[in-house]
Amino acid sequence: MNTLSNTLPQQVSIREVGLRDGLQSISAIMPTERKLAWLRGAYDAGQREIEVGSFVPARLLPQLADTAELVAFAKTLPGLVTSVLMPNLKGAERAIESGADLMLLPISASHAHSLANLRKTPDEVVEEIGRIRAARDASGSAMLLEVGMSTAFGCTLQGRVEPAEVLRLLQAVLDAGADRVGLADTVGYADPAMVRELFEAAFKVAGDRLACGHFHDTRGMGIANVYAALQTGVTRFDACLAGIGGCPHAPGASGNVASEDLAYMFASMGIATGIDFDKLMALRTKVAGWLEGETLHGTLWRSGLPKTMLAATA
Ligand SMILES: [Zn+2]
Repeated sequence: MNTLSNTLPQQVSIREVGLRDGLQSISAIMPTERKLAWLRGAYDAGQREIEVGSFVPARLLPQLADTAELVAFAKTLPGLVTSVLMPNLKGAERAIESGADLMLLPISASHAHSLANLRKTPDEVVEEIGRIRAARDASGSAMLLEVGMSTAFGCTLQGRVEPAEVLRLLQAVLDAGADRVGLADTVGYADPAMVRELFEAAFKVAGDRLACGHFHDTRGMGIANVYAALQTGVTRFDACLAGIGGCPHAPGASGNVASEDLAYMFASMGIATGIDFDKLMALRTKVAGWLEGETLHGTLWRSGLPKTMLAATA
């Protein structure tokens, strides 16, 4: 008897992060008009939450310098939740000004990763979250503040990251004013048992404010980790079309879990995502053409949907 399937969510959402997490690790700059076409295509395929870019200085990430323009276009698409990433208060001010619906701030659970990436300790980032929350409230903006806990399952610089430290920081982040939190396996160290254990513990800290799972497929565990998180009640996942995203510390490694593979797994299990496969796969082909020379990932594109699902969706 399978008791688990009775408790799985009936509906989940996939936030498309290809335009941010994906493109930021690809050095070639995708022209804005192609990004706009990608955004439009993702929307037409039924994706209703899209991370369109990042408010970091253009000299650091020229690939994402057109984020404000993408937000402006995304805001014309009814019902689309527009998400942007920002590393600090300065970025948050630009994010608030842009009119996006949600700003995502990464915090590293790994002390070493935090210092290398943001030149701040995790607790200094917590203080920044307090300042960002205050700026958001003062602006009168209804924008959501989400904090993504990166390296929650381990770190290429530091190695092991203690779950107790992840949970301590999670509580601190919530106390500092984050509306939502998520856990991220930034470097692909997690396995399904680790995911289940940490998400279960994190739900006890954050309740329904724990609202995202972000998994990389660096070592082939991406989909299995999504399923493990799903079993704990997570209903929102980040993913990249064609599994782009890579890992700066593991050359040649896969990136984020592929949006199309996630959508397929959920559909096959009878869990609604609102995504239209034909449109999403057509978009994948188009984007793959624009990313010539880059290594793409994902599995569904090789053989398409199984006959049984073609019949079911016809
Ligand atoms: Zn990522």
